[in-house]
Amino acid sequence: MRKTKENKEQLIRDPVCGMWIEPDDAADIMLYEDKIFYFCAPGCKKAFEKEPEKFIKVNQEELSTEK
Ligand SMILES: [Zn+2]
Repeated sequence: MRKTKENKEQLIRDPVCGMWIEPDDAADIMLYEDKIFYFCAPGCKKAFEKEPEKFIKVNQEELSTEK
């Protein structure tokens, strides 16, 4: 189910492994605290389900250090 790349798809980051993926390529997604998280593999989602706070926190810290 790949779309043609007519417009630049926004890449989103898997919060668990840090891999950038296209939303359409996500193996799994999860809604948590009104945010949708995308995962490159089912295993990443499982890890996130165990400790969502941990991965969200890491993600935010990294974002805050970027411009
Ligand atoms: Zn992953």
